[in-house]
Amino acid sequence: MASVFTRIINGEIPSYKVAENETCYAFLDINPLKEGHTLVVPKKEVDYIFDLDEDTYVQLQLFARKVAVAVKAAVPCKRVGVAVLGMEVPHAHIHLVPLDSEGDMDFRKTKLSLSEGRFEAIASAIAAEYAKL
Ligand code: AMP
Repeated sequence: MASVFTRIINGEIPSYKVAENETCYAFLDINPLKEGHTLVVPKKEVDYIFDLDEDTYVQLQLFARKVAVAVKAAVPCKRVGVAVLGMEVPHAHIHLVPLDSEGDMDFRKTKLSLSEGRFEAIASAIAAEYAKL
């Protein structure tokens, strides 16, 4: 069965999309650690990030860098943190989390609950910055 992220990429499940290219897709995490918490995924469905073929892995990292620049421009923060967990969804992905302190990257803490309007506003702000790059 297709992963939830493949279903998002295919438009079968809604997402707050921030960017897309030929090989990758980026959207807001629905349970964010911070406003602007973004997931970057390869369109190719592979569970473990280090099982990706080299070309897809490089494309994913280059795309994540560009999206991180857009996140930093759109969301007030000191820097954008990067994490790979994959404990919940078996489709390789990179978390980009706007950081003001080390604790902002603690995945055990209670996630933010944002309104649909807030998610939409953040996603469109990041998308607008991505379009400038
Ligand atoms: P992990 O696999 O441990 O890296 O965690 C998966 C992440 O995907 C979690 O932070 C979830 O909140 C997020 N997530 C799961 N389903 C969705 C979805 N439908 N839309 C956006 N984010 C999701």
